[in-house]
Formats: sequence, C-alpha cells, structure tokens
Amino acid sequence: GADLATVDPEVAKAVAAELDRQQSTLEMIASENFAPLGVLEAQGSVLTNKYAEGYPGRRYYGGCEHVDVVEQLAIDRARELFAPGSDTHVNVQPHSGAQANAAAMAALLQPGDTILGLDLAHGGHLTHGMRINFSGKLYDVVAYHVDKETGLVDMAEVERLAAEHRPKLIIAGWSAYPRRLDFAAFRRIADAVDAKLLVDMAHFAGLVAAGLHPNPVPHADIVTTTTHKTLGGPRGGIVLCRPELAKKVNSAVFPGQQGGPLEHVIAAKAVALRIAASEEFRDRQRRTLEGAKTLAARLSHPDCVAAGIRVLTGGTDVHLVLVDLVRSTLDGKQAEDRLHSVGITVNRNAVPFDPRPPMVTSGLRIGTPALATRGFGADDFAEVADVIAAALRPDFDASTEHELRARVELLARRHPLYPEL
Ligand code: PLP
Repeated sequence: GADLATVDPEVAKAVAAELDRQQSTLEMIASENFAPLGVLEAQGSVLTNKYAEGYPGRRYYGGCEHVDVVEQLAIDRARELFAPGSDTHVNVQPHSGAQANAAAMAALLQPGDTILGLDLAHGGHLTHGMRINFSGKLYDVVAYHVDKETGLVDMAEVERLAAEHRPKLIIAGWSAYPRRLDFAAFRRIADAVDAKLLVDMAHFAGLVAAGLHPNPVPHADIVTTTTHKTLGGPRGGIVLCRPELAKKVNSAVFPGQQGGPLEHVIAAKAVALRIAASEEFRDRQRRTLEGAKTLAARLSHPDCVAAGIRVLTGGTDVHLVLVDLVRSTLDGKQAEDRLHSVGITVNRNAVPFDPRPPMVTSGLRIGTPALATRGFGADDFAEVADVIAAALRPDFDASTEHELRARVELLARRHPLYPEL
C-alpha cells in the first residue's frame, strides 16, 4: 500500500503543517501535551484493525490473543501507578474523558438522580453537569462554586448543598482550577448524605502519578481520567473504581456506551503508563509544577498588577495558572490573540463571576505540561514568563511583537520537538 503522502496528499500536507506548528510555537494549553514517539507508534499500529468487543479473556471476537496482552498491560500498569497493591478495578476502554465520566455516572446513577458538581463557569468540566451536556440532560444538577474572595472551592457551600439536595453523586475535579481539592473533605460530605464520590483527575493525573499531588483513589468510589493531559499519552479515558463496582463500570462502558474498544489507543495508553512510572517522567512533572509556579510569580509582579493582571488564588499548586483580566484593558480573546501573535498558544477562559460572555471571557488558562515535555527547565520557564508578561502589557506594539516572537523562536529552537520526524 501507498504511504500517506501518496494516497492522500491533502491530509499529509495538513499533518505536516501541524507538526511544523507544534515544533515552531510554544504550546501552553493546559490540557495538551506531546505524546512520545513510542505512543504515536503504538497508536498508529495495526491494532487499529482489530475488533475486540468484551474484555481480556472474555471477547466476542476471535483472534484477540495479542490485543488481550496489550489491554491487560494497560490495566495492570494503571493499577500499579495509581493504586499499587490494591484490588482497584481498572477499565481502559473509554474513548475519551467525557465517555469515562458518562460510564462512571451510568454505573452509579439512574436518569433523574441528583448530582452535585463544580459549576462550569467556576472551573468545572462540561460533563460535571453542564445544561446541554449528557450530564445536564440526564441528571438533576446542583452546582457548587468557588469563593468570590479567595477563588477556592467553597467547601462550606458543598456541604450545605449536599445536605439540602441529598445528591446521589458528588463530583470533585476540574478543568480550570489552580489548587488542590480536599478529597477527604469531599468523602466526609458524601458519606454524611449517603452519596457516592467521583473524582475526575483528568487534569492532574500526571502529577498524581509522580507523587506531586494527593491521590484521590483511596477516597473516591470512582476515579476517572484522561490519558492525554499531564499524563502525556494518547487521547483517551480510564476509569478506576472500587472492586464492588467493577461489573457495573464494565457494562456501562461496554455494551452500555460503545462497541469495539480502540485497541491501538489502549496499546498507546499502556506505553504512556509505563513511561509515567519512570524517573524521567517524575522529573518532567517536577519541571511542569515549577514552571507553573514561576509563571504565577512573574504575573504577580508589580508591572503586571499595574496592567490589571491578577493571578487567581494568588498562585498555583498544579500545572496551570489562571489569569484574571477583569481589570485589564485586554479581554480574554484579545489576550489569547496577543500571545498567539508572538507564537504562544493558550486558551481564553472564563473567570469565576466573569462579566464577559463565554466567547470572549476575562481570563486566560496557561499550562506548562507540553513545554516541560519539550525539556523546558527553570531558566526557560522564567524566559517564557517574561515574554508572556511583556505581551500582556498595555504598551505592546509592533516592535515588541517582533522582539517577543524572536525570543519565542529561540526557545523553540533550544528544545527541538520530534527531531526524528
Ligand atoms: N474531565 C475533565 C476534568 C476535563 O478537563 C476534560 C477535558 O477537557 C474531560 C474530562 C474530557 O475529556 P475528553 O476531552 O477526552 O472528552
């Protein structure tokens, strides 16, 4: 058969252009990362050809002896990484984080049951109860929030809402929040009202794997994650749960939600989980965390404060910084475009109590995982933080843009991405 460039030059051209974009710009979208070559290779393998409905050893198709090996490796490695020595059950088949959450909820809830999750506008995910997401349509949603003064999740409100609404499920987890959650406190609140606890660690799973963030597994009935954020693997989802929920979770995933699992992606998950147990990975997560702290500190300097920039919660304990631009002359969209113009990719993000509409917003979410994967260390992150601070200043003009773009190009060249490609 012909290779991609021959069989489909249009797609090949777009793929090549995307590689060039990733190599030549600085990726600071907090939910993104660069999968290593081994992961790309597994995901691009012949395993994509195989049907394997069912689970290892119990398939509805013949010829599954090799994909069984791969899926069992992924299961065992996930358990070893997040719940070593335990009888935690693992399902590695969800195609995405959203599907992992849908399966977790299907395993624990009936349509119409009440769930309590973090408001989307305060950092929660779509699947935690947004109105037109499956979670908002199937379940009766109550949302908790962050405190207006501190920016921290208001645990007193969580407790009050739980007592008032008696949800069947409480969801702890976030897409845009710069601090750690108190899983033990969530557990206590859930127990007090006989609710189950789901922790969605999609964003911070890599930090958990590296021992740099509290592990939610001992506290939660079910933990879900994506595999492509801090964890640095292929796009996908994983569910970990207490052994008594194993059957319900498995049947919620298949046949509840999907047919054939993506065994090529599961192979790539297995590779990523093996890498996540390495010292190199732990070092990368340490640099991720330090980079985010450096950025938070830089954006808290007087020159940034004078420009109306505020770091939400005053800093970070994780891989991202939330920037509040309510008092800046820039809105979220303008700030995102400004950084894009100098070669830094971030996403605009609503801040809690945001006065602007969701397509504009008054904030930025800036993450360090992808640059840490690229090899960025303390000096590089200090330079990136300076570039971002300079780009967000009110005196930014064409000559600043030119200078900052050159500094970004230098950083990109200092840490080549996918040189083999
Ligand atoms: N959960 C959280 C906390 C997330 O931030 C995300 C992704 O943004 C998801 C779940 C969904 O993952 P996916 O995009 O793979 O469906």
